[in-house]
Amino acid sequence: MQIKNYINGELVEPISNKYIENINPATGEVYSYLPDSDSRDVNKAVQAASEAFNSWSRKSAQERSQILLKIADLIEKNLDKLALAETTDNGKPLKLSKKVDIPRAVENFRFFATGIIHFASESHYQPHFLNYTLRMPLGVVGCISPWNLPLYLFTWKVAPALAAGNCVVAKPSEITPMTAYLLAELCIEAGLPRGVMNIVHGYGSTVGTAITQHPSIRAISFTGGTKTGQEIARVAAPMFKKLSLELGGKNATLVFADCDLERTIHETVSASFSNQGQICLCGSRIFVEQSIYEVFVQKFVERTKKLIVADPLDERANLGAVVSKSHYEKILSYIDLAQEEGGKILYGGKEKPVVNQRCEKGYFVYPTVITGLDAYCRTNQEEIFGPVVTIQPFDTEEEAIIFANSTQYGLAGSIWTQNLARAHRVAQAVESGILWVNCWLIRDLRTPFGGMKQSGVGREGGWEALRFFTEPKNICIQI
Ligand code: NDP
Repeated sequence: MQIKNYINGELVEPISNKYIENINPATGEVYSYLPDSDSRDVNKAVQAASEAFNSWSRKSAQERSQILLKIADLIEKNLDKLALAETTDNGKPLKLSKKVDIPRAVENFRFFATGIIHFASESHYQPHFLNYTLRMPLGVVGCISPWNLPLYLFTWKVAPALAAGNCVVAKPSEITPMTAYLLAELCIEAGLPRGVMNIVHGYGSTVGTAITQHPSIRAISFTGGTKTGQEIARVAAPMFKKLSLELGGKNATLVFADCDLERTIHETVSASFSNQGQICLCGSRIFVEQSIYEVFVQKFVERTKKLIVADPLDERANLGAVVSKSHYEKILSYIDLAQEEGGKILYGGKEKPVVNQRCEKGYFVYPTVITGLDAYCRTNQEEIFGPVVTIQPFDTEEEAIIFANSTQYGLAGSIWTQNLARAHRVAQAVESGILWVNCWLIRDLRTPFGGMKQSGVGREGGWEALRFFTEPKNICIQI
């Protein structure tokens, strides 16, 4: 099967006529091909988007909303097909794609399609003068997304961009391009006008760079690794593009002795290994108050052992394959590093899980639990982004906060305690953009989403996203 670019309302071949192999990580085999596009395809996409902007930005919010709601309905109608495509591309359990990834893509479109109808701007009166602020769409914007939650994160960017009246040139990860391609088909079916959304497939170094460098692209919304974010900022900042950068993390899970232990174990195991640990919000460093450390570790390992690593198409699978061979090798290299740094592997490790014949050549890793490391070693400082967690004890609340804040990242974290005052204190002191108390991954699309420090700049979600994708213009009138 050959994936195509979506430019000016049509599914088209890349100008180079070259294609990249797309591998199913559960089988290790090529199952489709995607365009190896370059700056020429990006230029065509930007031209189409620029031509479409006048008419799209002048449509009423209701008109844009109707089309975006139609796209949401079509994603929902094709849920099974899209979920299977996501799982084939990414390796995640099919039940996860069906329950989380695709439904959340539907929600993203519905949320911003309805949000834009309620999006209002301010006016300020003073005697003899009235100021009012317009929120103008920016023009052509670039959206670049990663492979871990492919359609979910892709739509999290393009839906608010389109709702606000912009035209989009987007690039999904070359590792998981299929659902973005299927979305292009649905946009055509929904009657999205030509050029309003354009999807150019290919490598970050070619297509991603061309989007970042293009002088007519006014803003870049990027989710991915911190290094890539730095490179995008280096190129785009001197051009004064608006930038939203959602980057890496090394999230802390802080467990206090007064937590509800059974619930905490249940939830923190999920927070560690959901989507094979490949969610930017997963907790990869667990810190546990000394007095319950032994019992926590024992129960955590017991529960982890019950997780089933299986063919992603198997209904029983809690973990499927990790996304690619190179990512698999990166995860194993960190397990080696943890051992070199004195870590003790209590469960999992480098042994290859036996799955089934179909998945003999797939990239599977056991959920892995490591103890015996200090908070400052490389294993506890660098992002692994796989099913690997470390557990360390702490003595005091102050020490827990110091450990939590000891990395360059600041994306998310969770706090487990029955003491309300402590929950507020610790949540205020931990340097991260998102904190959950006695829960994890609860999402409300109205809340600001994003990180601080090396985890990024700017926030997505709710009005934050609509403000990012618009330019405020203040007008002052003498009355
Ligand atoms: P990458 O940074 O490698 O890639 C992200 C996207 O950027 C891909 O589409 C990639 O293309 C593209 N890209 C690569 N190089 C460039 C470049 N020079 N210019 C423009 N675009 C480029 O991240 P991954 O895909 O590996 O995703 C995993 C990372 O994403 C992790 O660090 C994770 O923490 C982070 N993440 C952060 C989230 C957050 O909200 N903060 C949420 C989810 C993930 P290609 O790969 O196709 O070459």
